[in-house]
Amino acid sequence: MGSVGAKDVPVLMSPDGKRIDGRRADELRPLAITAGALKQADGSAFVEWGANKVMAAVYGPREVHPRHLQQNNKAIVQCRYNMAAFSVDERKRPGLDRRSQEISKVIAEAFESVIFVEEFPRTSIDVYIEVLQANAGTRCAGLVAASVALADAGIPMVDLVPAVAVGKVADSIVLDLKKEEDNYGSADLPMALVPQSGRLVLLQMEGHMTRDELHRALDLGVAGCRKIYDVMRQALLDKYRADGPAPGVAA
Ligand code: ADP
Repeated sequence: MGSVGAKDVPVLMSPDGKRIDGRRADELRPLAITAGALKQADGSAFVEWGANKVMAAVYGPREVHPRHLQQNNKAIVQCRYNMAAFSVDERKRPGLDRRSQEISKVIAEAFESVIFVEEFPRTSIDVYIEVLQANAGTRCAGLVAASVALADAGIPMVDLVPAVAVGKVADSIVLDLKKEEDNYGSADLPMALVPQSGRLVLLQMEGHMTRDELHRALDLGVAGCRKIYDVMRQALLDKYRADGPAPGVAA
């Protein structure tokens, strides 16, 4: 890891096109997913993605709390994304801040659009995401973990939802930003999609890109999501090969 110039801004891209951790622009960090990591939840998954470690647990469909949120014609999806106090270098103040609330909301909305919520009126599907170690891209890691956990819980949905952040770093469009790239890069674009239809269910952007860069970033993200999807599927296959068929996902 090189470091030059004012205020120790690291060298984000070497002259031969290598990133701060040696990856190429289109390379993902190593990704490992364990489906069914927890015994108590209806469904769960543990994701290790680069230096990110994220656990997701799913309960439901079950009774709605608080009751007034209940909908007569469909299930509601409630999500709580939380970053542990020990998940970052400087201890994070515990509890749900604005950022956690925003991430919880966009993840819940992403899942509402893929789960067959009409099949479970007057119920709640509850998704808990706990970030144990954070190194950028945690909303995407959380979404990936929760998606596998939902399938593990047998919740019927259109498909698994892979997610990844793409961004602009030292004038290059790159896949799967790590912390330094997120901090010192010029754009961060987390996205999640339904692979078969290509429908985006989450798209956010911080920073600036030209229209052409945005197109290239989306293409790179879609290609990355397809690779992530394969790892997600494999995690479920690994679990259910031993236990019987995965209930939530079509083969
Ligand atoms: P994401 O984790 O989805 O990329 P952000 O872009 O908001 O979301 O955050 C980027 C990274 O910044 C996080 O993954 C984490 O490593 C770090 N970070 C976020 N919030 C805090 C915080 N309150 N304290 C310290 N680090 C944080």
